[in-house]
Order: sequence, then structure tokens, then C-alpha cells
Amino acid sequence: MRAVVVGAGIGGLVAAQALRRAGLEVVVLEAHTYPGGLAGSFFHRGHRFEAGATLVSGLAPGAPLARAAEALGVALPFPLLPEGFPLMELLLPRGRLLRPVGRVQEREVQRDFFGPRVLPFWRWQEDRARRLLALAPALAWPPEGEEVLGFLARLPALLPLLPDLFLRASAKAPKDPEFSRFLEGQLLISAQTPKAYALYAALALDLPHLGVALVPGGTGGLAQALAQGLEVRYKARALRLLHREGRALGVEVAYGGRRRGEKEVVRGDLFLLNVSPEPLLGLPERVPKDAWGAFGVYGVLPFPVPPPYYRQNLRKRPFAFLSLRPEGEKTVFSLSLHTPLAPWLGLSREAYLRLKTLWQEEALALGEALLPGLREAELLFAATPLTYRRFVGRAWVGGLPQTHPFRFPRVRVLANAFRVGEGVFPGQGIPAAALSGLRGARLALAYLGLPGTP
Ligand SMILES: Cc1cc2nc3c(=O)[nH]c(=O)nc-3n(C[C@H](O)[C@H](O)[C@H](O)COP(=O)(O)OP(=O)(O)OC[C@H]3O[C@@H](n4cnc5c(N)ncnc54)[C@H](O)[C@@H]3O)c2cc1C
Repeated sequence: MRAVVVGAGIGGLVAAQALRRAGLEVVVLEAHTYPGGLAGSFFHRGHRFEAGATLVSGLAPGAPLARAAEALGVALPFPLLPEGFPLMELLLPRGRLLRPVGRVQEREVQRDFFGPRVLPFWRWQEDRARRLLALAPALAWPPEGEEVLGFLARLPALLPLLPDLFLRASAKAPKDPEFSRFLEGQLLISAQTPKAYALYAALALDLPHLGVALVPGGTGGLAQALAQGLEVRYKARALRLLHREGRALGVEVAYGGRRRGEKEVVRGDLFLLNVSPEPLLGLPERVPKDAWGAFGVYGVLPFPVPPPYYRQNLRKRPFAFLSLRPEGEKTVFSLSLHTPLAPWLGLSREAYLRLKTLWQEEALALGEALLPGLREAELLFAATPLTYRRFVGRAWVGGLPQTHPFRFPRVRVLANAFRVGEGVFPGQGIPAAALSGLRGARLALAYLGLPGTP
């Protein structure tokens, strides 16, 4: 039996490992020359930059990445940041607020900054995050096919959480404009929307406490570890999914590099798509109205910078998120901002470049407030939503903004073809992409009548 996985993002790699572990022959097709997609690292002029993700969380025992690694028998030997480590610094109108690693430590900092009235919010957050985490790895949402029975079995544990599916996180928060801004900033980076529903928000706010590691050499080290032992064909771009009577038969691939100009149909029994299925099926890609794009500025600073390595400017919109990575005596940085997609579309080349320069200037001004000297970068370049679109092969980045819990496309695309990745799992970022890989593989194996990874 052969499985073909399209895309070596985190979801694709996890699914591929799970299928390999189940005894299938697995081929991964990846358009680029390295794994990881938006969680990959690339070289540019001798420096290593992050394509997207910079903060790797979920490695604590029981958290999503650790669970996935255990289920797959893959080693992720990245040392965790200790409790109390100054993880993130937020620049708010009233001053600087730290998000340390550790729930107890964070609660103390929050009490000192916002006052004791925020404590009930954090108690609620911790309770919901813990309960949801216990459920998340096996919770198929919305359940499909054979998942319905498992979902019903978990209903008793879910019932107390139900009201928080229909409330906004802001309804749980104290009425304090400064705290609202804090919440808005955090939810924007972890849920793609400040209007996230409460249950999702509780988990999103827990990211600093789920086991964060500074992966040696950059985020891409995680994908490299997940790609170990897999047959990944790089510079292999999937063009079309061939199918008949509701069953996928093969993927038409165009190769680059040494095989440039070559095309081939890679046949298989199962297909896991870590990409939007629509273009492969010749259909227009559906982009939600509230989908965001990212604008990023990358650079190398000629000086070392101490922690916190993650900093967010919440004083002015759009909020800017700065990530720093020590590289000897230098520091590699990426600065990212959310932008609506519409202003970037349909522009002439000149208008596009003007908008790009404008955003880069604005981003650097916001970044300077987080780290004076940012403009002294030795090397500076920017990525617009169109750059990310080209890079990742889909119209927008980020999962579906978590405004309500019913915003997910079906995982099963054809009888034997399944989607994996951030856009299809109730959660976002690397941990969610990993869980989605496990889920996609489970559904795929069930189709073959084989047991899946736990
Ligand atoms: C700017 C930015 C910052 C972020 N920061 C964080 C963060 O700090 N922490 C965090 O956890 N998450 C972060 N995220 C989100 C995180 O990067 C993603 O959620 C996650 O990496 C998505 O994984 P995925 O499995 O959906 O695959 P993707 O990353 O979408 O990968 C898909 C893969 O498929 C390949 N591909 C596409 N089309 C084809 C084709 N036709 N043929 C073959 N291959 C193809 C692509 O090259 C890519 O490798 C960030 C995202 C962005 C954009």
C-alpha cells in the first residue's frame, strides 16, 4: 500500500510519519528544497531565516507536539525553556508587560500589571486550557464518518465547556481597555482574530506554558527532525490530483532542479493533502472574507540581543510582532504584521512596490519601539501577502479565523484523499498542524481498515 503526501509542512510530515509507522510505503512531494513550509527555515546570504513560525510551543509532556512525537516514535530533543524565563515582552500604552514561561509566574505578573481583578480570568483560562488539552489530541471536530462515535463518547467531558463555545473571550475578561488590548494582541497572533470564542482563546493564551523550545538553528530544525526517515522528493510540485468516481488515483507532479522539465504521475492508494485541494482539483480556491495576510520584514543585526526574544508592539495598530534569534555575535530577526488581503490584490507593479515600501517603513518604525537599532540591520528584506502566497502555494496564510467553532472544511476530500494542516484543525500554528496530521492519518488508515496512531 502506498500513501502520497502532498506538502512537507508540519501537518504533512506528521501524517507521513504516522502512515509510515502503520507500515505503508510513503512518498512526500514538496515544492521547495527543504521541509517545514511556514515552519521552515531558509538560507539567504549566509544567514538562516524563519519562513513564518518562530515560536515553537507544545513540547511539554502531554502537549500536542510531545504527544505527536511519542506516537510517531520521533525524537524532538529540544530543551524546554524553564519556568520564569522571560518569553515575550508586550509594549502596551501603560508600559511594558512580560509574559514569562509558567502559569503561576504569568499570573503574578498579570496581577502586578493589571490588578487583582484579572485573576478570575486567568483561573478560568487555566481550567479551560487544561480540560481542552486533555481532550484535544483525540477530539475530532467537527467529527467525520467513524469519528462520530468517539465524539459522542467524549460528550460528558465536553458538556461543561459548551457555553464557552458561544461566548467571545472578551466576555470573560475584566472591563479594562488595557487588558482588552492585551487580549486582542495575543488572540490576533494565536487565533487570527481578536473575536475568538472563549474556549479557543483559553487554549491560545496557554501557548507560553505548553513547553517552548528555542530550536537550535531555527524553527526549521523541527521539520528536519520530523522528516527523518521519510522519502521526501523536493522540488516536486503537485499540479493535479487525478481521480475517478470519487477516488483519487494519482498526483501529477512537475519536477524542478536536476529533473527540471520532467513530469510524472505518482500513483497511490491514499492521498494526504497538506495544501489547498481546490487548485489540485481544478476548482477556484475559497478565501474567507476575513482572511488575513502577513507582512514580514527580515534582517540581521550586527549586535547580540538578550531575551525576551519575542516582543509585540500593542501601542499602535497594526500590532507588530518581533522575533529574535541569536546567531553568534549577531541577531537574526523577523518582524510580522497582519494585513487584510484586499489592498494587495490587483495592483500594478509600481503600486505594489510603493505599498510594500510603505509597509516596510511602518513596520520598522513599530519595530524600533521594541528594539532600538532595528534599522541598523545589515541585511533587510520584506515579504508581502503575495510573497507568502507564492511561497506556500495557497491564497492566504493562517488557519480560519476562530470566530466560532463551526468554521472548518471537511478533512475528507475524496474517498481516499484527506486534508491536513492548519486550515483544517480546530487550533492554529505548529501544534495544531501536528495534531491535524495525526487526525488525517487516522482517518486515512481507517479507510483502509487499519488501526491508526493514538
Ligand atoms: C508570519 C507567520 C508567523 C507565524 N508564527 C508562528 C509561530 O510563531 N508559532 C506557531 O506555532 N505558528 C506560527 N505560524 C503558523 C505556522 O507557521 C503554521 O500554522 C504551520 O506551519 C502550518 O503548517 P501546515 O501543516 O498547514 O503546512 P504549511 O506550512 O502550509 O506547508 C505546506 C507545504 O506544502 C508545500 N506545497 C504547497 N503547494 C504544493 C504543491 N502544489 N506541491 C508540493 N508541495 C506544495 C509548501 O511548499 C509547504 O512546504 C506563523 C505563520 C506565519 C505566516
